[in-house]
Amino acid sequence: MSRKVTVDDLALFGGNALFSTPKSTSNLLQPDFEKFINYSKPLFDPRIQSGSIVKLLEQRLAAFHQTEYCVTFCSGFWAIALAISALAIKGRTEIVMPSLTYRRMADIAAWVKLKPHFCEVDPKTLAMNEATARACINDDTALILAAHPIVNCCDIDGLVSLAKEKNIPLLFDSVESVYESTASGKIGKFGNAEAFSIHACKLLNGFGGGYLTTNDGALTTQLVRMRDGSDINYTSISNGMNARLNEMHAAMALAALDDIDKQVSLNRDRYHTYKHLFATIPDIRLVEFDERYQTGYKNIVVELLDEWPLSRSETVNLLNAENILARVYYSPPLHRKPMTFPHVDAVLPVTDRLAKRYLNLPCGQLVTERDIEDIVWILHFIHQNANAIAERIQT
Ligand SMILES: *Cc1c(COP(=O)(O)O)cnc(C)c1O
Repeated sequence: MSRKVTVDDLALFGGNALFSTPKSTSNLLQPDFEKFINYSKPLFDPRIQSGSIVKLLEQRLAAFHQTEYCVTFCSGFWAIALAISALAIKGRTEIVMPSLTYRRMADIAAWVKLKPHFCEVDPKTLAMNEATARACINDDTALILAAHPIVNCCDIDGLVSLAKEKNIPLLFDSVESVYESTASGKIGKFGNAEAFSIHACKLLNGFGGGYLTTNDGALTTQLVRMRDGSDINYTSISNGMNARLNEMHAAMALAALDDIDKQVSLNRDRYHTYKHLFATIPDIRLVEFDERYQTGYKNIVVELLDEWPLSRSETVNLLNAENILARVYYSPPLHRKPMTFPHVDAVLPVTDRLAKRYLNLPCGQLVTERDIEDIVWILHFIHQNANAIAERIQT
């Protein structure tokens, strides 16, 4: 690690990178290896039926979220897609969803042959709320897909009561809120179902996979049938599929689940280091976790305020050159991307404005306290030398 003395020392201008190994915005939890091996043992025991590790994971996750049921899938994407297929009101064509969200959310709508109807977000939470969803509801609304932002939670109570009032199914994408609680209780039981991912970049790492939680028994039966393709009629061709989670991934996720409290407490320490250090830099704001409730402290998101002296893309390029893999927050928003499938045209000025202001900074298992000091230090350096940097970029 070499700190900079002059602007010429910045890696973008030919200096050595601040980090020799890249610092990622993915969580990259590596669970205890022995635990993983132990959970995998049934795979090698011919007396134990295949599927037992997945079943155990489903029980453990239902208990973790305090729900009656959990159904696992090969990915979060297919968990969401199949939940929409099961829940959407038949004969209707639109899904209400935010535009400032997961980059494949509109593709999910395309797979289930529904049109995304993008709604605005609340600038305070960066998430949709009761009012922004309500503005998009019409006689064609088949489902509300409410996505939590990556720091804190969306307006759960407002959305739940809106869905009840309008009699429209409500699915939460709770991937980024897996560990959170709110004033109304633990995430997992709201709406008709909630979707999660156990991809390696998420808080709970199964090296890939996803799951849904719900208290609806009939929905659970339907989802299991769809996932396993067990409705197929072997004498004709139908919409059969296999979207099951495999046993190795379940073993990995079980080991990760055993470690999650420890992991969160380390994330908490990292977050507090960031928070403490960001208090010393002007014109940039850390998006704070609401510590009144249980939270996973996973994502580090900052807002570049109007006074920040460089553009966001210049800032990201400078950081990336230093091997700090900072990323733009959900940008471009979905409604700004070309879509080859049917959708509802959207005009979203709040989303457009917010989509230009936020950055994700490195977080998770492989980021040390010292790394955080260096990351905040370089942001400070960039701020202090912004004029000289802007000149260098021009030439
Ligand atoms: C990662 C992610 C998904 C999809 O999960 P996969 O397991 O990667 O398919 C869905 N929603 C959000 C908010 C995500 O971050």
